[in-house]
Amino acid sequence: MAVVSHKLKGRAWQLRQTSLTRYATLVPELEAITGEKIPYNCHGLVLLATTAEQMDQWRALAKARQAQGWELNIWEPKVLQEYCPQVNIEGLGGAMYSPSDRQIDPVALTQALVKAAEKNGVKGRFDLKITDLKQLAQENLAADWIILATALGTKELTTTISQREGYANGSPVEIRPVLGQAIELELPQILGNPEFQPVITGDDVHIVPITSILPSANRDSNCEANYHYWVGATVEFADEQGHLQAQEELLSTVKQRAIAFCPELALGSMVKTWSGLRPRPEAQAAPIIQKLPGQEKIILATGHYRNGVLLAPATAIVVRDLLGDL
Ligand SMILES: Cc1cc2nc3c(=O)[nH]c(=O)nc-3n(C[C@H](O)[C@H](O)[C@H](O)COP(=O)(O)OP(=O)(O)OC[C@H]3O[C@@H](n4cnc5c(N)ncnc54)[C@H](O)[C@@H]3O)c2cc1C
Repeated sequence: MAVVSHKLKGRAWQLRQTSLTRYATLVPELEAITGEKIPYNCHGLVLLATTAEQMDQWRALAKARQAQGWELNIWEPKVLQEYCPQVNIEGLGGAMYSPSDRQIDPVALTQALVKAAEKNGVKGRFDLKITDLKQLAQENLAADWIILATALGTKELTTTISQREGYANGSPVEIRPVLGQAIELELPQILGNPEFQPVITGDDVHIVPITSILPSANRDSNCEANYHYWVGATVEFADEQGHLQAQEELLSTVKQRAIAFCPELALGSMVKTWSGLRPRPEAQAAPIIQKLPGQEKIILATGHYRNGVLLAPATAIVVRDLLGDL
């Protein structure tokens, strides 16, 4: 969610814009290096408006984005119904369509990045938990620079670094988990127009077509078409004691909200549920991309909260700039 974001300027918008632009070249680059397709939905994003005020805000946003060179279309309910007949327009003020926002399979993307990096000479070690930087030397991993892309592991690691190495403000980087659950549904038929399968979002609930159902130009020709959709996700915080456990009833509420604006989802059978933890920085804005205070050679690239996939390319560019001339 870059173009549809309400951020119009400053770091939050710059990172989003940089990422979106870089994705357009990154995906084909990775596919060429690895020889494998990355499921990447280029049908855009449809946001449903529940109120007239929301439509007014989006009209203003569309105008501002147009001045920045990005397209956003405002759809009255009738237009929404034409493009997305699967949406129940009752009670909706209309929609905003962003043709430039994207959805990518994050697992396939990560695997492609690892494979491409290996082809460029990177040796991955996936079996190590680093608790202390001294461990790096013991493992023959002496480094000129250290980049901590450690999400929820950042606090523990920066605590040891601060105790062992000491750094300017001395406090560890606090990042807390925010749980998200999603559900994969299999439907007896495709939702709406088979040639137009955008992500549809209403009330922070997302219906995400799983890419094998996309028209053949957007999918791997070896993939058999099936009608699977992700519906998600919950946003669950820890309680005051720090306990965080997936709550079944919250996932069920998300599903019910999705069915309210897309009734055909009620016909779906559950394939699986999934949950993950979003790393949210405490007392500072997400994401944290900077040198660890007092440490010239340790870079933090962490705490992306709800936008880690979107902001990955921009994060890499900022980190590369921080490294300077190698
Ligand atoms: C439900 C849900 C919905 C999401 N939706 C979106 C979305 O719509 N758009 C979007 O852009 N992003 C989305 N995300 C992604 C999210 O924004 C996060 O940013 C992302 O999951 C975090 O990725 P990461 O690589 O920073 O952290 P992680 O995936 O947690 O990776 C950190 C890695 O560091 C390793 N590590 C930590 N400490 C150590 C240590 N001491 N030694 C060795 N290894 C260590 C861990 O093992 C892990 O492999 C979603 C995530 C969830 C859970």
